[in-house]
Amino acid sequence: MSSALASLPKVDRVLDAAPLAASPVARALKRRLVQEAIAELRARIQAGDLTSIPDAEALAVIVRARLDELLAPRPRRVINATGVVLHTNLGRAPLAPAAVQAMAAAAAACDLEIDLVSGRRGSRLAHLRPLLRALLGVDDVLVVNNGAAALLLACTALGGPGGLAIARGQMVEIGDGFRVAAMATAGGARLVEIGSTNRTHLADYRAALDGEAPGESGPATAILWVHLSNFRQEGFVHQAELAELAELARARGVPLIADLGSGSLGVGVPGGEPTIADYAAAGADLVTFSGDKLLGGPQAGILAGRAALVERCGRHPMARALRPDKTTIAALHATAAAHALEGPPPLPLLDLCGATVESLNRRAEGLRLALGWPARCVHPTTATIGGGSLPGDTLPGVALAVPGPSPTRLAARLRAGAPPVVGRIHEDTLLIDLRSVDPADDDDLLAALRALELERERERERE
Ligand SMILES: *Cc1c(COP(=O)(O)O)cnc(C)c1O
Repeated sequence: MSSALASLPKVDRVLDAAPLAASPVARALKRRLVQEAIAELRARIQAGDLTSIPDAEALAVIVRARLDELLAPRPRRVINATGVVLHTNLGRAPLAPAAVQAMAAAAAACDLEIDLVSGRRGSRLAHLRPLLRALLGVDDVLVVNNGAAALLLACTALGGPGGLAIARGQMVEIGDGFRVAAMATAGGARLVEIGSTNRTHLADYRAALDGEAPGESGPATAILWVHLSNFRQEGFVHQAELAELAELARARGVPLIADLGSGSLGVGVPGGEPTIADYAAAGADLVTFSGDKLLGGPQAGILAGRAALVERCGRHPMARALRPDKTTIAALHATAAAHALEGPPPLPLLDLCGATVESLNRRAEGLRLALGWPARCVHPTTATIGGGSLPGDTLPGVALAVPGPSPTRLAARLRAGAPPVVGRIHEDTLLIDLRSVDPADDDDLLAALRALELERERERERE
């Protein structure tokens, strides 16, 4: 073993070998990767699972490949063929070309916080506030980094000493292990849990505001309502109406904060998801929602409602820590401008949701014929909007069922393509659901599926 260890290539020899010498990467970084690679070899020799030791040249090839991988542009564009239109792992809402242009324009120096008329310092929200206020029909708005940040800020700034009364049935987990209750309290706010898992009555809220909730010594000083974005309760259930809570909150002079999550403006969105206007009309004092769910824009969190409450949130030190960057503001402005037009907004998200089944079928047939696949490969599917919105509401989709054994292997191969295609496996079949695919990507999708076919043909020939 000691002779094997002694024959490991020296770091400088590997660095000077052609594949690494030709790389423009800083030598210190290359050195770190070479040292790491040599340490791995050493560990494998010691574990006894290395039969031959690469020379300096061979090791340089390995490290060069790792470097190239590290420096390739990330994240990569992928084709979302999952049938989940708003897929959090795939970046949620696809941005409108106008939003992308606005981001690129703002990437240079821009008038982010300067009033070009007076030359004095301005506010980054001045660009968005008038348009969003008019669009949403609310007194005032504040924009932060994402939906969770909006909830955190609202609860921290407005929860008050007695904490926020929340129904146990609304203590939602939104995904990846993150829970609304944990986000609401992360800044020091208290929650006063009321009701039972399945039933919470107006009287429970009243008792909490009167300081009579079980285990509480004082009155709750706010109400938090959370939209059941990703699940439904059925059977022996009851939840006080938002409008009833609004009346109670107003009578007691406490704020009613509603975490809507999905943030739909209503136009062009299928299904019965409540809109921001519904929540405001029901009497929520402050509504929080995401920019990249049904709004169809960039990752952002929006707080919309009464001016005095928005101002308290905006003055909280946490607002500075959660503020959005200039490219987000630019993309959100362009997205809001699309919503300001008469009729369905020209946004990729809504185009995907609005595609007819006939058009999906036509595209699927076109792809199928081009691939020479049998007619049974075109399937109707049940697609979803996703992004923690519309749990029960689905969209009809149309998919290509990729023929062949081992759908997990097929899926892995398509993910390894250029561009990667992400499908979904349903009943032991790999589906390429066109509901979530931009028609402009159909040519790339076809090329990826052809490449898969070719690869499999070559494999069959070898066998
Ligand atoms: C999605 C969601 C959030 C979190 O929003 P992000 O934009 O993902 O941070 C919070 N509450 C509800 C109800 C949601 O649906």
